[in-house]
Amino acid sequence: MNDSSLQRGGIRVEIEHIFPIIKKWLYSEKEIFLREIVSNACDAVTKLRRLSSLGEVKDLDLTGAKIRVILNKAEKTITVTDTGIGMTEEELQKYICQIALSGALDFVQKYENADTATESGIIGHFGLGFYSSFMVSDTVDVITRSYTSDRAIKWSCTEAGKYEIQSDYDDDDLLDGHGTAVIMHISEEGEEFLDAYRLKDVLNKYCAFMPVEVYFEDENEENKENSAPSPINDTSPLWLRQPSEITDEEYKAFYHKVFGDFKDPLFYIHLRADYPLNFKGILYFPRISNEYESLEGQVKLFYNQVFVADNIKEVIPEYLLMLKGVLDCPEMPLNVSRSYLQNSGYVSKISAHITKKVADKINSLFNTERDTFEELWRDLKTFVEYGCMRDRKFYDRVKDSLLLEKCGSGFVTLQEYLEQAKEKHENKVYYATDKVAQSQYISLLEQEGVEVILLDRVLDTQFINVIEANQDGVKFVRVDAEIADALQNSDAAPECADAVSAFEKIVQDGVKVEVQHIKNSDVPAILTVSEESRRMDDMMKMYGMPNGGAGTFPLESKLVLNAASDLIRKIDSLYKENSEKAEVLARQIFSLSLLSQRKLTADELSNFLSDSYSLLTML
Ligand code: ADP
Repeated sequence: MNDSSLQRGGIRVEIEHIFPIIKKWLYSEKEIFLREIVSNACDAVTKLRRLSSLGEVKDLDLTGAKIRVILNKAEKTITVTDTGIGMTEEELQKYICQIALSGALDFVQKYENADTATESGIIGHFGLGFYSSFMVSDTVDVITRSYTSDRAIKWSCTEAGKYEIQSDYDDDDLLDGHGTAVIMHISEEGEEFLDAYRLKDVLNKYCAFMPVEVYFEDENEENKENSAPSPINDTSPLWLRQPSEITDEEYKAFYHKVFGDFKDPLFYIHLRADYPLNFKGILYFPRISNEYESLEGQVKLFYNQVFVADNIKEVIPEYLLMLKGVLDCPEMPLNVSRSYLQNSGYVSKISAHITKKVADKINSLFNTERDTFEELWRDLKTFVEYGCMRDRKFYDRVKDSLLLEKCGSGFVTLQEYLEQAKEKHENKVYYATDKVAQSQYISLLEQEGVEVILLDRVLDTQFINVIEANQDGVKFVRVDAEIADALQNSDAAPECADAVSAFEKIVQDGVKVEVQHIKNSDVPAILTVSEESRRMDDMMKMYGMPNGGAGTFPLESKLVLNAASDLIRKIDSLYKENSEKAEVLARQIFSLSLLSQRKLTADELSNFLSDSYSLLTML
């Protein structure tokens, strides 16, 4: 290849082509323009403060720094003014007239070193935010006066990207000294923002915690407020303050205000991660009164005190979205795609850090305030169980603080339960899912000193799979899944072979009949359904398979006759001489055992009733 055939060039972009793209694609929501323009104004003030603290500027009074957002519906303008650093004509040419040149980046590079760059609190990043104003405007004017100059300049640009600059502009009082005013002449596309309520809403959403006081003014409002106006924002949000200086009341008041929840949170965690993660936040555990209440929490993500979005799934571990809170992550590369965020190491480190802090808090409550922890447990467990199911690391951290509620009363940890059960039923946890429906089984076990755990929420039964998978040898067994060893009498029992024949004739298809010697002679028979087949059936139901998958995976049911029961012995001896009568009795006992295991079907119930009547006539 010779030199003459080699061509070099730079990609050229025509402004008329870029503007429509910005309007359409820069941000998915138009309202973002306000966040961008107000955060530029904030940056302008922050920069000046920074210069002053570096001794670069002197004799400037920075105490009254403020931002005004002025709505003039009649003139269809929204104006944002600041008392910040302003721009010289040269800077304006560079940063505003050239898309994607960021003065924020230049500033940080010039005045900050790598260690303090993230602490500078400067929001701008990519040099595009300003142009979001064109999503809602036909024309945008910028009137600006640099802190280094005593003359203002005016730049005026149409949506086609054509601009004029007027040097030596008389700023007609919009600026009070140095600073910038951005006047947006609102287009049809932005009309909704000319409504004072809508505009104020957007302002409150994004700017409620920005670091410079922001005032909202409605020029067309008839009765201008008489009292001194107050800023719409809180410039030093709670999450940035030292935890040791914050009272419990302040944490709660912040929660009520920001999340509109009138209930107090269960507890909260103040997060403060240092370099290199460098984020701060407060997480609240909301009080969830019942299982059916929405579990959707609200975690607000901030970037240097600027609200970005709620519940960004890519950043916050999914189970934490049940919590409420604020996270301020100045390191977050926000303008990049969400899938990038999801895969970025930074995000997974944030998640890991939060997970650790949440687990630490749970463990410390368990270790130091067990009574309080037990009181909170019902409210807390859905969250904790869900977290454990979603995140193995979380489970590993909190596993020793997980509580199991007893059917009787009180709570135990798994280890405590297993320790107590060691002799009677090693490594086996008996549980009930319905205290009333399974009461017979529960009381049989409790009579023999076996504690039964209550797992009555949908998530509980899924959660036990997690425990079983992670705790070697531990098995959860529902009370109706087997006859516990503790219920059995070790003495040999009569075989009752005839009783078995009688029952075999009358039980439903697939139900096996067996004899065991059960200590409590009052119970003639107990129906058991194997744990595995029932779990399989529950799963089918959960996935909406018809009939709970019946037919595909039959429930393995067993009717256990109690050799110690007089009734069973009676049927055993009656069978040979009057099999018909023996079967009527057997059928009644089977129905009763079915009834104490589950709800009868319509057919079963009508058979049970007619059997009962014929039994009564036999008396
Ligand atoms: P970014 O803020 O990400 O750098 P923008 O497109 O929002 O990008 O702004 C480009 C540049 O224009 C800023 O970096 C800053 O130098 C300048 N600028 C914008 N608004 C103001 C303002 N209110 N006061 C001073 N400079 C501003």
